[in-house]
Amino acid sequence: MKIRELFDEKIVFSFEVFPPKKTSSIDVIYKTLDELGDLKPDFISVTFGAGGSGNSRFALDIASKINESGIIPMLHLPCINFTAEEIDSALLEAKQRGIENILALRGDINPDIPPVERFRHASDLITYIKGRGEFDIAGACYPEGHPDSDSLDEDIENLKKKVDAGADHLITQLFFDNEYFYNFREKAAKAGINVPIEAGIMPVVNKNQIERMVTTCGASLPRKFVKIMQKYEHNPEALRDAGIAYAVNQMIDLAASEADGIHLYTMNNAYVARKISEAVSGVIGV
Ligand code: FAD
Repeated sequence: MKIRELFDEKIVFSFEVFPPKKTSSIDVIYKTLDELGDLKPDFISVTFGAGGSGNSRFALDIASKINESGIIPMLHLPCINFTAEEIDSALLEAKQRGIENILALRGDINPDIPPVERFRHASDLITYIKGRGEFDIAGACYPEGHPDSDSLDEDIENLKKKVDAGADHLITQLFFDNEYFYNFREKAAKAGINVPIEAGIMPVVNKNQIERMVTTCGASLPRKFVKIMQKYEHNPEALRDAGIAYAVNQMIDLAASEADGIHLYTMNNAYVARKISEAVSGVIGV
């Protein structure tokens, strides 16, 4: 089933997983998928490293497994380091395995890997996939602007190109302050972007994640969020509970403000996904 059809019916609630590290067995993620599947998300997306990093080669296998379990899969497909032939082969394999939903991405530019240049932007990949007519296509968007853009307005102008190229719906980068999402949504609507936008929410539930957030993620960290993280960083259980509660609060506010959907960055943590799903089931009808 194509994901775009779901938005007419409800607030779409989806999960994101990533392939396990090279040193881990793929069975670990299969167990996680069973647990996530029990929570009945509308779809589960699988990340794919732009530079072929980690265990990206497993992304298609994981998406197939999701499909076999009766949940709709979405395959992320970053294009910056791929030739048209490599994209063709990934799309063919996806089609053969019954995967109809693709999140078309540029991918981060790795200074050590010269870009292939066939697809410079996600919009180039979207045009290419759209030409084949078989897939539902999602695109990424950035409530605080993409770091490569000089301003949010410039990024939204470029996002419009992505939508005009054929993106059926969008998923946002994570954010911790819903006001950025509401401001972005308003600006996007004014720019003529009228496809559904899912809000990306990441529960921050351990110390490693906090450190990564501070150093690599472009998202602003509101005072309330920083205070909670500082207070509980040395108490793993309290930090986990506080991170879950923070994400739940964000989601309830988003649902009340009529977000089209919520995409949960699960970090492959089925326990956290379950706690959150249980807490929001009434408001978003999981
Ligand atoms: P683009 O849409 O190409 O945008 C990149 C920059 O170029 C922006 O500044 C934009 O304003 C500008 N731009 C866009 N189109 C044009 C145009 N036509 N002309 C001129 N300028 C333009 N990365 C992975 O490697 N694997 C993943 O699985 C993955 N999953 C992700 C999932 C989500 C929901 C999100 C939000 C991001 C994900 N990423 C993933 C990260 C993503 O690849 C990076 O953020 C990357 O730097 C940009 O990708 P993009 O598709 O948004 O690029």
